[in-house]
Amino acid sequence: MIDRAIDFLISTVKIDNQVINRQDRYSESSKVINSVVEITFLGTSSGVPTRSRNVSSVALRLPQRAEVWLFDCGEGTQHQILSSELKMSQIRRIFITHMHGDHIFGLMGLLASCGLAGNAQPVDIYGPMGLSEYLHACCKYSYIHLANRVQVREVKPGLVYEDQEFTVNCLPLKHRVPAFGYRISEKDRPGRFMVDKAIALGIPPGPIYGKLKQGETVTLPDGRRIRGTDLCEEPEVGRKVAYCTDTVYCDAAVELATDADVLIHEATFAHQDAQLAFDRLHSTSTMAAQVALAAGVEQLIMTHFSPRYAPGNSLQLNDLLEEAKAIFPNTKLAYDFLTYEVPRRRLERVCKL
Ligand SMILES: [Zn+2]
Ligand SMILES: [Zn+2]
Repeated sequence: MIDRAIDFLISTVKIDNQVINRQDRYSESSKVINSVVEITFLGTSSGVPTRSRNVSSVALRLPQRAEVWLFDCGEGTQHQILSSELKMSQIRRIFITHMHGDHIFGLMGLLASCGLAGNAQPVDIYGPMGLSEYLHACCKYSYIHLANRVQVREVKPGLVYEDQEFTVNCLPLKHRVPAFGYRISEKDRPGRFMVDKAIALGIPPGPIYGKLKQGETVTLPDGRRIRGTDLCEEPEVGRKVAYCTDTVYCDAAVELATDADVLIHEATFAHQDAQLAFDRLHSTSTMAAQVALAAGVEQLIMTHFSPRYAPGNSLQLNDLLEEAKAIFPNTKLAYDFLTYEVPRRRLERVCKL
């Protein structure tokens, strides 16, 4: 009886590079020009929590669609959410990097609470092989019934999610267990079509507006040739965020972060503890900075710090920051509840690339 019930709890969908969850519910008209993409760090300590830092979790808030996407969910993440501006009811997707406890032990409690909160939306969870089995076992032995509202998708390298506004890709990192880094890319948007200008030129509304909006050149019945690009504002370049943890320096992290607006990269150790980083397949501050430099990102935010650098120790996190800045000046240290709005880059900069 219980087994049959469990089968119903979580539907597991295996995906490959081609089959993805396409959502077409975001129509053209729902696009908001000044949309916000905001990152909130919910946990920035590696392995174990400290008094001031919880274990790994990062939230990506997309207020224009009332969604929060979580990346990792260490123990206590739901408490952190309750202490933040984020709403549990808006959690729509959870991306898990790997199965180490400091990245997943908060997942089951959070899902159970989401269920109790009566979330209207389902929650889709993406992560490595074993995640589905783990959640099934948790549900089974704690008698939790999540109905059909949770889907677990075990990821493979490549595209894991796409809708009209965003894509999410993953690649395997270099850690002691299978671990994936993620790249979240907002799609570029054509510039706003200036209807007033079209009317002023005497172009009658109709299907022709659609072509001009796409930047096409059209010939009017009176013989005038009108370039759509002249009637559109500058295109908006989509924002890109890469999340790479846990890993030692690897090319996949560079690939995921290429040209990103923000790279969130682990920096468990200081440079002088590089041997520990190599032994445990974690990064030093200098490795994180080297990834940022090689990938040409705009901003590096380091996280997943070893508690050994807490205040009072001979080496502290500001030392890690200085080490990274010597290689990549545009570096920040994450701390719990740090919120960072990803800026939309200006077109001039893109043209230079
Ligand atoms: Zn970790
Ligand atoms: Zn790990």
